[in-house]
Amino acid sequence: MTDTLNMTRPGALKGSDTDIYDLTIIGGGPTGLYGAFYAGLRQMKIKIIDSLGQLGGQLSALYPEKYIYDVGGFPRILAKDLVQKFSDQALQYAPEICLEEKVQTLERNGSGTITLTTDKAVHKTRTVLIAAGVGAFLPRKMDVARIDDLVSKGIQYFVTDLSALTNRRVVIVGGGDSAFDWALALSDKAQSVLQIHRSDRFRAHEDTVSKVMASSVEVRCFYELKAVHGEDHLEAVTVFDNRSGEEQVIECDNLLLNIGFLTNLGPIKEWGLEILKNAIQVDSTMQTNIPGVYAAGDICTYHGKLKLIATGVGEAGTAANFAKTFIDPASKAFPGHSSERDGT
Ligand SMILES: Cc1cc2nc3c(=O)[nH]c(=O)nc-3n(C[C@H](O)[C@H](O)[C@H](O)COP(=O)(O)OP(=O)(O)OC[C@H]3O[C@@H](n4cnc5c(N)ncnc54)[C@H](O)[C@@H]3O)c2cc1C
Repeated sequence: MTDTLNMTRPGALKGSDTDIYDLTIIGGGPTGLYGAFYAGLRQMKIKIIDSLGQLGGQLSALYPEKYIYDVGGFPRILAKDLVQKFSDQALQYAPEICLEEKVQTLERNGSGTITLTTDKAVHKTRTVLIAAGVGAFLPRKMDVARIDDLVSKGIQYFVTDLSALTNRRVVIVGGGDSAFDWALALSDKAQSVLQIHRSDRFRAHEDTVSKVMASSVEVRCFYELKAVHGEDHLEAVTVFDNRSGEEQVIECDNLLLNIGFLTNLGPIKEWGLEILKNAIQVDSTMQTNIPGVYAAGDICTYHGKLKLIATGVGEAGTAANFAKTFIDPASKAFPGHSSERDGT
């Protein structure tokens, strides 16, 4: 198996690329990778551009060590292992991969092609699949003194190495999926886990909440973070009950802040696309209001849209197949079954 998580291709990052690709995919997360696979199956010439230095999108950048339970075919799988499988599947058709390149502009040319400009190159393509997730994402910060001083010194917004928290005393702030997923993942690894949340209403999968409640994790509702303590490294936190005001100092080694993300579509907003609530509107073929430009995954919206890996993957398959018919109207959108390519 190749190490595709950090791969880059020599030459892909420099100069202008005058080759015209059939489909250029903006974003190398699960949606973009699956779109690349399907376009390869349809014998399209494909390029993936991602602003990060690795493939995998949010899974690689935010939660590589977290288990995912809701992808078809995998009862549970680590995010980094799922990215490896998406990459292996996509790369069998040898798409061109341009990492550490942020797409700044998208323009439809008179000739029917589309030009994408990045901070490093100009790319020409017949169709585009925008699979740019939530755009640039930043963790939501907490307004508590000295947090910034202790980030990476015991305080963290992301977990990229779960083993670093083994046998540690961990406090988690948050009541959403990330907070509960990390609480569950750490329940049998950390020395202790205390999860605090400002209310008794959670925004997490019910099953995960039940599992955490049944585990060794101590969950305190109506508790908030008041202060962090420590000079070179986190030593303790002060939490308080927001109903009574009662405070308590808790000694700990690590503090995970999982209170959500702020997202920004950035340059994508300027491309003339129909945007609704920070997402790109698409029709049932995943096409945007610009002909030949498709969107899928977290970045797209339509009635009933769910932001899940599973839905993004399905949308990417639809987009790739309709991009094929856009380039070649004589071809069918329904590709037949992939098993038929071997004559089986
Ligand atoms: C902590 C956490 C846990 C989660 N757990 C689950 C789970 O258990 N199950 C589940 O189904 N979903 C889960 N999700 C949601 C899931 O990660 C997303 O639905 C999924 O990543 C969306 O995939 P995507 O490919 O559409 O976008 P992303 O994964 O966001 O990938 C988009 C890529 O596009 C790139 N990009 C953006 N703008 C540009 C640009 N202008 N130029 C070039 N590149 C660009 C980004 O760098 C990124 O790599 C979780 C999310 C988080 C934050």
